[in-house]
Amino acid sequence: MLVQQILKSKGDTGVMTVAPGSLVQDAAKILAEKRIGTVVVSADGKAAVGILSERDIVRELAKRGASCMSDSVDNVMTANPVTCGLGDSADSVLERMTEGRFRHMPVCEDGEMVGLVTLGDVVKARLSEVSMEKDALEGMIMGH
Ligand code: AMP
Repeated sequence: MLVQQILKSKGDTGVMTVAPGSLVQDAAKILAEKRIGTVVVSADGKAAVGILSERDIVRELAKRGASCMSDSVDNVMTANPVTCGLGDSADSVLERMTEGRFRHMPVCEDGEMVGLVTLGDVVKARLSEVSMEKDALEGMIMGH
């Protein structure tokens, strides 16, 4: 199973981005309204310069209180996020997410962001693949 197929099965949901210099409170509003866990920080919607997760906001809230909400996303985000390509396998994405302890990965092709996959998307896709493999194997064993 490739990232390309995972994105296709998700439908074209696009990637939520905020521009560098945006306020954390504006990014938090997007996370809440769209019910998502991250926004990608990008000036042009193509290059992912950073990623801001709900976890980053919670960490800053615990460290410095509500004042972090008026800070720029640039100071709270993770810069240069790990990305994957359309031709990467679901297993390699799962491996990188597990190693890096994050649940989101922008998908880039020819230097442009074309989507975003979450740990949930990848697990769902793998589960359905495993279930299809199981049915196929059962069919072969039973001889139909
Ligand atoms: P998440 O589990 O994705 O909500 O993020 C957990 C932490 O990893 C946060 O500090 C994020 O900024 C960071 N993070 C999320 N996605 C990535 C990524 N693709 N590459 C690097 N760091 C990331």
